[in-house]
Amino acid sequence: MPDIQRLLTWYRLNRRDLPWRQTSDPYKIWLSEVILQQTRVAQGMQYYHDFVNRFPTVQALAAADIDEVLRLWQGLGYYTRARNLHATAQMIVQKHGGQFPDNYNDLLQLPGVGPYTAAAIASIAFGERQPAIDGNVLRVVSRWFAMAEPIDSAAGIKIVKELVQQLMPAQDPGTFNEAMMEFGACYCIPANPGCSLCIFSDKCAAHQQQLVHAIPRKKTKPKIRHRTFYYMVVLHKNQDEPSVLLTKRAAGDIWQGLYTFPVIETQAEISPEQLLQLPEWKNIIPDNDFVILHTSRLYTHQLTHQRLHARFLVIQANGAFTNDDDVNLRRVRLDQLHGFAIPRLIDRFVTDYFKQS
Ligand code: SF4
Repeated sequence: MPDIQRLLTWYRLNRRDLPWRQTSDPYKIWLSEVILQQTRVAQGMQYYHDFVNRFPTVQALAAADIDEVLRLWQGLGYYTRARNLHATAQMIVQKHGGQFPDNYNDLLQLPGVGPYTAAAIASIAFGERQPAIDGNVLRVVSRWFAMAEPIDSAAGIKIVKELVQQLMPAQDPGTFNEAMMEFGACYCIPANPGCSLCIFSDKCAAHQQQLVHAIPRKKTKPKIRHRTFYYMVVLHKNQDEPSVLLTKRAAGDIWQGLYTFPVIETQAEISPEQLLQLPEWKNIIPDNDFVILHTSRLYTHQLTHQRLHARFLVIQANGAFTNDDDVNLRRVRLDQLHGFAIPRLIDRFVTDYFKQS
């Protein structure tokens, strides 16, 4: 068994000075944990500061408009996290009198709080002995014990959890959890960790068996779904106050609650001529009084299990829009676009096209 005192000493000497490590406020710990899911520390840091400054308490976050939360979240991706953040804040205010639940089981009932986040908050803020198993801990433990089970399987996660439970000291489980995660994030990294100088080189089975390159083992990857989108950047003819049409993405959409240009999804890439024949086109631009000013390069955007391929058509439309009655479509002045929460893919095009033209 690896010696946990070694780990704790390493952590004391090497840990990064991160703002959420200087607090035991469960609100701020929760905020940092949600922001850091699928986000690197360097990227998440500014978002953490922005959220804490704008919403210093769970009450302030609960009272906010969801559009403002999404706007502040813009650029982080995985927007379900932002919606859950807001829903959880409201639940804490309405059902828990503004106090965070102080134990693992009750924390698990909150929207978007899974076993890892619940264990991190319970151990760090409330001293409960719960192992927080993130990707770093899975990697470290699977290497220490040269595990054959894939770490993305239920069986593999269960084994790691049981092993961490055995390793976890009774005193200060929060610091232990943080030390495990930090060791994985900063030392026992995915590729080429410094095994020969590692404090666990004499105890690490993967190193001893020269299996570090092969562990952690993973199941075969799920298939990536490819999707093709044509975004219609419909410019209004009034050049004094140029405006575009935006649509709010509905429930079930990958970008629910965010704003994009109206979009047509096709099975594969097609020509602009073919695009004009589609009924979806007529829904957005019903008459023929328009000019296509620009067809963008192909943009690609990676989501967890989807790869998006998108082109943007900038269209000068002069006729009336029957869709002005569509509550999901709204005309927005170009200089007000920044006030809307838009996905990173859309933002990349806006930056390329409008900020240069
Ligand atoms: S010896 Fe290598 S694989 Fe094992 S814990 Fe240390 S860095 Fe990780």
